[in-house]
Amino acid sequence: MNPPIVIVGSGLAGYTFAREFRKHDRDTPLVVFSRDAADFYSKPMLSNAFSGHKTAATLVMKPAARIAEELHADIRPRATIAGIETAAQELVLADGNRIAYRDLVLGLGADPIRLPIAGDGAADILSVNDLDDFARFAERLEGVERMVVLGAGLIGCEFANDLLARNVVPTVIDIADQPLGRLLPPQAGQWMRARLEAAGVAFRMGNSATSVERAGTKYRVTLADGEVLETDLVLSAVGLRPRTELAKAAGLVTNRGIVINRMLETTVSHIYALGDCAEVEGLVLPFVMPIMNQARALAATLAGKPTPLTYPPMPVVVKTPACPTVVCPPAPNAQGSWQIGATDDGGGIEAIYVGDDETSLGFALLGTATARKQALTTRMPAVLS
Ligand SMILES: Cc1cc2nc3c(=O)[nH]c(=O)nc-3n(C[C@H](O)[C@H](O)[C@H](O)COP(=O)(O)OP(=O)(O)OC[C@H]3O[C@@H](n4cnc5c(N)ncnc54)[C@H](O)[C@@H]3O)c2cc1C
Repeated sequence: MNPPIVIVGSGLAGYTFAREFRKHDRDTPLVVFSRDAADFYSKPMLSNAFSGHKTAATLVMKPAARIAEELHADIRPRATIAGIETAAQELVLADGNRIAYRDLVLGLGADPIRLPIAGDGAADILSVNDLDDFARFAERLEGVERMVVLGAGLIGCEFANDLLARNVVPTVIDIADQPLGRLLPPQAGQWMRARLEAAGVAFRMGNSATSVERAGTKYRVTLADGEVLETDLVLSAVGLRPRTELAKAAGLVTNRGIVINRMLETTVSHIYALGDCAEVEGLVLPFVMPIMNQARALAATLAGKPTPLTYPPMPVVVKTPACPTVVCPPAPNAQGSWQIGATDDGGGIEAIYVGDDETSLGFALLGTATARKQALTTRMPAVLS
């Protein structure tokens, strides 16, 4: 029997690739390894689960056994891959077993970054990056009235907004001066902050947590400016680091992520990567739309129709109902400036990043301006053409 295509990871990257591949090819054996339960869930819903009255159980959209049937795939939950023998084209499982692959697809995801924070409570800081994390988080929420959220980026702000649905008062801490500091121009960031504050979110911007101490069943969080916050729980949402260790140990080139080319090939033949773990042309884009484009291209390629990756403009909707927001950031090396205006109804902000040659290179829309998402997206350049 020919060796299968082996996918490591049952997240959006691994499963979307499998689904897209089956549209081309019903016969080539597919094996999916996952160190989690391999049930399919929508990760973006982790940060608006409370508003949607979801639990860890009801967030599952399809159990692994059903996916196995639908995709005619051999799915192996709670199985960790410990190594890749590239010359032999074999994977080594943590239990010592081995499996040969025709092609290997790495959809390993990313790990939450942990800040160096002192204190005996630092080890209790939670982060939520998968369904198991969410189950632990939801369990700890009983009786919680106040929570400190580290990080005012997209995910920190979404969790803060969502906690309001559970009557928890969140205090968000970030060294930046405004929420979504990397995505929004200052005026838009302050506008967002004001709306989240009006809804009940507190901010300590331009600040950081230096220590977290246990205080009975609560915690005492000390900030860089000396303020001490009493809180019931601390959640960290300060960013993600692509999981590159497995690839690195096997001799694949890694940078911030596992380095791939436009065919999603790593630097070792028959090994591909996609999703939060992958880096293409210097871009690590840990969002849904890049993954969809990657999965479609790779599925066609591995089914025999070589298809290079392209990215259209890919706006991201920020799930903060207190301040509806859509961002389509300019490329990191873009040269230009933000042009910012209020909407006629006064209920929104439209910020366009205009390049030195007068072309529109990105946008941020807040409040009622989010209605302009489609119209503006069509004017944006492709991220990878
Ligand atoms: C709270 C939150 C909200 C988000 N909201 C949005 C949003 O609104 N819009 C948007 O576009 N994006 C959003 N994102 C980002 C988006 O969800 C991710 O980009 C995407 O889900 C990543 O999918 P993935 O398959 O690459 O990684 P993951 O879903 O993390 O999957 C990685 C898989 O690899 C497995 N694995 C790892 N190592 C091993 C190993 N050694 N052996 C076996 N298995 C292994 C894991 O078990 C897991 O199954 C959000 C992310 C978070 C955390």
